[in-house]
Amino acid sequence: MRGRFAPSPTGSLHLGNLRTALVSWLQTRTDGGEWLVRMEDLDRVTSSPQHEASQLADLAALGMHSEAPVVRQSERFALYNDAIATLQRLGRVYECYCSRREIREAAQAPHGDEADSDAYPGTCRELTAQRLAELRAAGRPPALRLRANGERFDIDDLIAGRYEGAADDVVIRRNDGIPAYNLAVVVDDAAQGITHVTRGGDLLSSTPRQRLLQQLLRLPQPRYAHVPLVVGADGTRLAKRHGAVTLAELAAKGVSAANVLELLMASLGVAGGAAFRIEDVPRERWACAPHLQDLG
Ligand code: GLU
Repeated sequence: MRGRFAPSPTGSLHLGNLRTALVSWLQTRTDGGEWLVRMEDLDRVTSSPQHEASQLADLAALGMHSEAPVVRQSERFALYNDAIATLQRLGRVYECYCSRREIREAAQAPHGDEADSDAYPGTCRELTAQRLAELRAAGRPPALRLRANGERFDIDDLIAGRYEGAADDVVIRRNDGIPAYNLAVVVDDAAQGITHVTRGGDLLSSTPRQRLLQQLLRLPQPRYAHVPLVVGADGTRLAKRHGAVTLAELAAKGVSAANVLELLMASLGVAGGAAFRIEDVPRERWACAPHLQDLG
């Protein structure tokens, strides 16, 4: 059994991130497994070594330490490019020349299908050879997309329960040449022998596309657990605007790391010496504001 926490080092970890890390860490402790941290710093513009250091320090302040050297995605592009080449050999990749704006506009056009404003409308999926030649000649570099064929997957999530969804034509390489998150995460979880992927609930809907990538690349399929999001006083996903939400900000208000740990443990049903069980993690979003008020 091997679990991991895979933050993007683009800012300080907030209570939501820390709670997710804690679930993964507790799960690994309980099952006698190994726990790793992986830095998802694919985007070198938004990632920084300073954020990486502060995130590792915050995890350590709550007693969580990676049990293997921390791996950085920015150093592993060769692995991701190999996987992209494999998908190309399978005929499951196409070039996409759409801008964000074109995708948004095409997705909003009425087309009879069920409305899904996030979905790629398939503009570049079946380009004629002539149109493709024109686009290539025009010089805008393409993104690469997976030809998913709308295949559906059933996920048996350890927290969320059964989740069913279609894989979509997800971007696997951005048009600036950077491998995309969904590809890299699948490659790394397999390369690192991760058996249990425990992460934020916002990624549950990405799991079908990751399943398809695992299937095509012949990679083992980990178990999934998606931890419901932490929300602020207004009911929206926890963020900077909610005030003191990082360990440093809370410390400035007199809330220690030990207080935070206790609070997060209680939110997971691990209080008064109770044992942690992933099945007992509440399925509802956790509103942290009232609890923080008691502490601050
Ligand atoms: N790096 C992603 C994030 O910070 C998490 C990816 C994952 O756990 O699969 O949201």
